[in-house]
Amino acid sequence: MAYFQQLLLNVNKKPLGFSGSQFRDMVDMKISNAYLPNDHVQYQHCAGSAPQYRGYPCALWLLFHTLTVSQYQVGSQQINVTEVPLAIKNYIKYFFGCKQCSDNFMKETINISQLDSQNKHQAIIYLWKVHNNVNKRLQGQISEDPKHPKVQFPNRYLCTTCKSINNSQNNDDYDISKTIDFLLDYYSRKNIDISLISNKSRRVEELSSEQERLVSTAEYKAVKLQRVAYKNENLQHVEYR
Ligand SMILES: Cc1cc2nc3c(=O)[nH]c(=O)nc-3n(C[C@H](O)[C@H](O)[C@H](O)COP(=O)(O)OP(=O)(O)OC[C@H]3O[C@@H](n4cnc5c(N)ncnc54)[C@H](O)[C@@H]3O)c2cc1C
Repeated sequence: MAYFQQLLLNVNKKPLGFSGSQFRDMVDMKISNAYLPNDHVQYQHCAGSAPQYRGYPCALWLLFHTLTVSQYQVGSQQINVTEVPLAIKNYIKYFFGCKQCSDNFMKETINISQLDSQNKHQAIIYLWKVHNNVNKRLQGQISEDPKHPKVQFPNRYLCTTCKSINNSQNNDDYDISKTIDFLLDYYSRKNIDISLISNKSRRVEELSSEQERLVSTAEYKAVKLQRVAYKNENLQHVEYR
């Protein structure tokens, strides 16, 4: 809260307005007890040929596909096939900064509730199809990285047997069973490279779990104290009666 109050104060100090880079400097401020992390993220798979390309939205897609595959791979016999797609949809609805993308995605995922609950691959295939439709829609658009043109996925270099018709722009021209096998492998746990997570991020993780532990210990103690107080109060009532 302290951070946002200070940011608001700084914004109000400039009634005549400010440039984008001046606002960037304001956002990057560090006050004693709060600041936003402003490390410039270095993407690996999602690195674009220029800063405006790929990056965060690309990483989101990778995370979403990984979630659908992981639910299938670690889930029990009975999985709720709409659970992950609905969570993704709600995340995009409320937290994705690109409003136009979010609106498009709401329309493109209108039929989630109709997924076949008997088919455990449904969520994986559903998201793959939706993503390929988005790829098709964005072909040649301003957001397309010229070094990474929008094509139907997987291309024949990634999966030689997935496509029944080469260079097809249609999801129907994929062999679904081979595509499922490919996606299960491509987005599986063994393909997640965590060696690039820096020591710094590990330290941040360690610190936040330490913080969580302290908070839960404090909460536990507070609940215990409340119980003791409640017990004492009741005992007093008993004594007075
Ligand atoms: C939910 C959502 C909606 C979006 N809507 C819009 C929009 O309306 N307009 C707009 O301009 N941008 C939109 N974007 C951004 C856009 O889809 C791309 O993420 C962005 O242009 C970067 O593209 P990219 O080349 O890095 O590949 P991305 O499309 O981001 O794909 C990332 C990676 O996923 C893999 N992949 C590609 N296709 C598939 C597939 N079908 N199945 C499984 N894996 C696949 C590939 O390895 C690829 O490198 C949206 C992003 C998201 C997450």
